[in-house]
Amino acid sequence: MNPVSAALLIWYRKNKRVLPWRKISDPYCIWISEVILQQTRVNQGIDYYMRFIERWPDVEQLARASEQEVLKLWQGLGYYSRARNMRLAAQEIVNKHNGVFPKTAIELKKLKGIGDYTAAAISSIAFNEPVAVIDGNVFRMLSRLFNEVTPIDSAAARKTFLLLAESLLDKNHPGDFNQAIMEFGALQCVPKNPDCENCTLQTHCMAFMLKKVDHLPVKRNNVRIRKRFLHYFVFLHKHEQQCYTLLRYRGSGDVWQGLYDFPCIESDRILSISELEKEHLFCAIKSVAPEIIPISGIRKHILTHQHLMAQFYIVKCNNGFEHVKNNSLSLVSQTELGNYPMPRLIDQFLYENENLFDNC
Ligand code: SF4
Repeated sequence: MNPVSAALLIWYRKNKRVLPWRKISDPYCIWISEVILQQTRVNQGIDYYMRFIERWPDVEQLARASEQEVLKLWQGLGYYSRARNMRLAAQEIVNKHNGVFPKTAIELKKLKGIGDYTAAAISSIAFNEPVAVIDGNVFRMLSRLFNEVTPIDSAAARKTFLLLAESLLDKNHPGDFNQAIMEFGALQCVPKNPDCENCTLQTHCMAFMLKKVDHLPVKRNNVRIRKRFLHYFVFLHKHEQQCYTLLRYRGSGDVWQGLYDFPCIESDRILSISELEKEHLFCAIKSVAPEIIPISGIRKHILTHQHLMAQFYIVKCNNGFEHVKNNSLSLVSQTELGNYPMPRLIDQFLYENENLFDNC
């Protein structure tokens, strides 16, 4: 066996974290854990994983869940297309494969939302298929080990780094090897100040020998960030001792598809109240002179390619409320609010303003 691969496996057996999905060969559990861990810290992911498996212990039960239920459980993890796609892939497995997981990466990639990484992780860990995985940790570790300067966010990166990963892959233990290389990147070859003096791969590591550890991996960093200004309106309406508000269902073509937020006016800057009152949303209820009250300051919410600047307002307009309603808006009582999946920005706002409905 390649000495680097052997050293990685020895390191892994000694240092791997005890995680609920380790030692499990059930492809369903491996799939759930791998999808949750994409873009998510392990500590945060464990809790979501446990709740997900408890709620839907197998693929048949996930296939029967509603999109709203799955998104609600996923709330706070972000990248909500992952959850929507998992439910759709579960339905495909049940309907087209009799509930049995495909065993190869090529077949797994045909399922909704399963890409190269997830397919390789499932097929190698659950079915021992000798295919290499590369995630962000593996990119970093290979870039340093081989002094590979191809930018990891370039089109050429995947092919280049896959070849390097395949050159190390232990074909007799592909599942363990793939977990070892990912764990090594996550715990030992960390982005900043890795402990190279105490690294088992030190004598093989080109970046260490060339004193280039801090300069690898290379990134082009040409991602353009879009800045958006969102004015959110919490309409308050009292009816028979219950307080109601309006929630907006977010359709396709933007972030947070399938989730709910409040009616919103978007612009390229924060607007004044007099400017907001001229917007279409308020023209419809002009006759009842709605009271628009800003709540706290502007909140910044950072997504991968977008920075959202959000300002929330209470809008009291007990009469004329129905003029605002349209197909994407639902009238929701205060007590039902918790059943709706929401982006973290909205959930946090509600959490920090728990007395909001006292103004009803
Ligand atoms: S020596 Fe340093 S840079 Fe090289 S693999 Fe080890 S931790 Fe990473």
